[in-house]
Amino acid sequence: MDFAVLADAFDRMESTKKRLELTQYLVELFEKTPQKVISKIVYLLQGKLRPDFEGVELGVAEKLAVRAISKSSGIPTGKIEDEYKRGGDLGHAASVILEQKTQTTFLVEDITVERVYETLFKIAKLEGARSQDMKVKYISSLLNDANPLEASFILKILLGTLRLGIAENTVMDALAIAFSGNKDNRRILEHAYNVSSDLGRVAETVSEKGLEGVERFGVVLFNPVRPMLADRVKSQKESVERLGGIFAAEYKLDGERVQIHIRGEKVVLYSRSLEDISSYYPDIIERIPKAVQAENAILEAEAVAVNENTGEFLPFQELMHRRRKYKIEKAVTQYPITVNFFDILFCNGKSCLELSYEERRKKLEKTVKEDEYARYIPMTIVKDESDVEEFLENSINAGSEGLMLKMTDKPYQAGSRGSYWLKLKREYQNELGDSLDLVVIGGFFGKGRRTGSYGTLLLATYDEDADLFTSICKVGTGFSDEDLDQLYQILQPKVTIKKNPRIESEMEADVWFEPELVIEVVASEITLSPIHKAAMDKVRKGAGLALRFPKFTGKIRTEKMADDASTNEEVITLYRGQKKVAHDKSLV
Ligand code: ATP
Repeated sequence: MDFAVLADAFDRMESTKKRLELTQYLVELFEKTPQKVISKIVYLLQGKLRPDFEGVELGVAEKLAVRAISKSSGIPTGKIEDEYKRGGDLGHAASVILEQKTQTTFLVEDITVERVYETLFKIAKLEGARSQDMKVKYISSLLNDANPLEASFILKILLGTLRLGIAENTVMDALAIAFSGNKDNRRILEHAYNVSSDLGRVAETVSEKGLEGVERFGVVLFNPVRPMLADRVKSQKESVERLGGIFAAEYKLDGERVQIHIRGEKVVLYSRSLEDISSYYPDIIERIPKAVQAENAILEAEAVAVNENTGEFLPFQELMHRRRKYKIEKAVTQYPITVNFFDILFCNGKSCLELSYEERRKKLEKTVKEDEYARYIPMTIVKDESDVEEFLENSINAGSEGLMLKMTDKPYQAGSRGSYWLKLKREYQNELGDSLDLVVIGGFFGKGRRTGSYGTLLLATYDEDADLFTSICKVGTGFSDEDLDQLYQILQPKVTIKKNPRIESEMEADVWFEPELVIEVVASEITLSPIHKAAMDKVRKGAGLALRFPKFTGKIRTEKMADDASTNEEVITLYRGQKKVAHDKSLV
């Protein structure tokens, strides 16, 4: 398939934000796409090469892309950087530069989607000393044969700046229309996506085998299931009102969610955002097979740091010490954990998603044999507010964040934040009602003791409609010296030459970062702001929302992607709820 067809579709999609138009462009594109290419196109549309859980990362830095443009055009890197700074993004700059190309190529090979994809794949797999030079070579060979529009999209994919604003649901709408003639069939595709986490495979199947093929999708070992999430409640009263009758209450432990896939000795661990995190937990890989009494299973647990002597749960940030590539064995002994099981999604070759909570919990207790390392998450059946209060109190005393409240007769809803699971945290009962997970977009150099680090960070919410990161506050408190060191190590490689076009901020930072890292903050209040861009014009014309007295909680949320950060909608709800909470509190 000619890459020009895809570049042309990308170009049209970039020019609109309207969901209906985007869907229409996608339908037209899918109708022109051969079966064997459709999965590749679906990944590329999302700026990926493979589903997230396979961990294939493009990771090309801007500087390297500038070198490749220079090699292919014969124009010096300084001039390319100037063009880049002048406006647009590097993809756009490349198209302008290539128009003025001084070198001519004689042997022009066709640019097909397959060729671009294969080359990007090779680039992603390159490692080692010479990999940078090889990347430049591969990129420039593509640019040599590309026209300016194609070149601009090749670079955007490589740099991760292709922003078509296409949500997964829009892709599924378009697939349903293109291959079944009816948008309502998205439901069937959605189910397949929720159990497989692989939209490319869903697309390939529906294009080859139609809806019947997709209907046969089931849970498969070593292919993560999209996690079920919980809605938030602010009080015991609200939880009883929403769940009614008798329901289960579990401790909400403050660790890392781990989806454990196991068959015999083979164990693979996936995070909440479905990345393979097996290398951080060699202890789970080694010890869990002894506790699991089934031929194969998919289990969900919260891995929590513990004090080895007292068994007490420790806060989430203790787990951060395991986020390292080397000397992980040392971290395992220094920062011990327990694995606290709360669900079972697959057992002895069969899916458990359709079973009720009650049946799954029974199966879980049959499948996992408890020992001092593998535990069941503490659970009790509750029937009224005072039961919830009592268990909440116990859970907080044990070092947990609060409670998860679950309907006992409901199935596991993969990939959805529904009303069958609720979460109740103590901190929801403070004035603001919750902590926020914000994206780090900019940094300000520290002074005095903080020289050599970013003393203050500029943070943003996620604007779901526009697919942008909108500034909401600067935060300079709550950081220990160790936090500042760690954040500097993480953030320094994310510094960009120019502000990423997805960042909306009037405030100027000393340095801009790729919007990737998510950290947790608390604040005393949300106020209207003439400077910050979060929820601009939504509450009042000409004003955005800002956090008052924000403070870092110590949690770097490595398990969250930037678009899992708190959204403007959530912030508006918290803003509107501020006064109401005062009232609710008097009822608690
Ligand atoms: P939060 O910011 O509160 O962690 P989240 O957006 O990551 O929320 P939620 O569905 O809102 O996800 O909260 C559920 C999270 O709480 C899970 O992802 C899991 O890591 C953790 N957790 C702790 N204890 C439990 C439990 N008993 N059952 C389910 N999840 C639990």
